[in-house]
Amino acid sequence: MRLGIIGGGQLGRMLAHAAQRLGIDVTILDPKKNCSAGQVARQIVGAYDDAEKLHELAAVSDAITYEFENVPIEPLATLEGKVPLRPAPKGLAAAQDRLTEKTLFRTVGMQTTDFAAIDSLEDLEREFAAMNGACILKTRRFGYDGKGQARIDSPADVPSGWEELKDGGPLILEKRIDFKRELAIIAARTADGNEAFYPVTQTHHRNGILHRTLAPAPALTDEIEQQARVYVDKLLKQLDYVGVLALELFDTDRGLLANEFAPRVHNSGHWTIEGTTCSQFENQVRAVMGLPLGEPTLPTPTGMLNLIGNVPDRAPILARPNTALHLYGKSGRAGRKIGHITVTGATDDDVLKRIDAIESIIDT
Ligand code: ATP
Ligand code: MG
Repeated sequence: MRLGIIGGGQLGRMLAHAAQRLGIDVTILDPKKNCSAGQVARQIVGAYDDAEKLHELAAVSDAITYEFENVPIEPLATLEGKVPLRPAPKGLAAAQDRLTEKTLFRTVGMQTTDFAAIDSLEDLEREFAAMNGACILKTRRFGYDGKGQARIDSPADVPSGWEELKDGGPLILEKRIDFKRELAIIAARTADGNEAFYPVTQTHHRNGILHRTLAPAPALTDEIEQQARVYVDKLLKQLDYVGVLALELFDTDRGLLANEFAPRVHNSGHWTIEGTTCSQFENQVRAVMGLPLGEPTLPTPTGMLNLIGNVPDRAPILARPNTALHLYGKSGRAGRKIGHITVTGATDDDVLKRIDAIESIIDT
């Protein structure tokens, strides 16, 4: 069996590891030579929209998947009928634009924050007044890790927010949610419609970047767990989805609100490598290759800490019990995700205390 992966970052690297454990041959397409995933698998060096390189990848793959959502859609059409693309490009397309994404959420019956398309300063003035409260202005496309966002708290922020983002393509204004906490759910679906749901995870962001996760989310009611599952199930079915998908949620007084989804494995599911018997990476590989899904079960509370910026010393981290270190083969740079740490424990408190202790000895 042969798997092609478009994109060569850490998600591609962890997908490659999972595939290789099952004896599946992996080829990565990425323009950057010796990228994170290219260090552990065969790499075709080329642009994501280079039709020739895409065909080269198809020639050595029984199925192709992606490790990021901003893969150019149009060039993928040349592969249709040649090799299965999983998930199908329509799943990617839906996630590439925050306006179509939130509209899709509403269409399938998920709650979201109020939102409006913004194409001019006048639109922004009008819609901000209509929302009647604090907002966030975002680029519709290519935002990640909180980039391409500006807070609009009062009318005085309108001109500066517009100036800051107006050259980033079409915009969306969102009402700011006063959430209790942020959650995420990851699910997998096979071509014949089997589904697996991971336990809902609590996520913490710092400066717009995912900082920590704790799974299962503490003190989660059955009702909220169920609502998360119903939401992600609607999305999987609507998109006739094959593979792993992550849905980011706000836990609020009026139940769950959908924030965004990722048509791929996700940072909020890195804990599944140590925390479950079949990780999100392995289930993505299984779904894409037409294999049965594995159990997304959770034997013990599991926390994850992202390593952002500097590459830490390995030894002090590895000296700690029940601690797994993942480094992505990337050099350190401010704001860059270069690795993560997973900690398992008997209780949530136990996990959190040990993550605090690790955080105090590393410089992230
Ligand atoms: P990432 O790549 O980390 O998922 P992103 O750049 O795609 O992030 P969002 O997920 O939309 O952007 O926003 C990042 C974070 O900003 C959210 O996790 C949340 O903490 C905060 N945020 C975004 N939108 C809202 C909102 N409408 N109300 C309140 N907080 C928000
Ligand atoms: Mg997000």
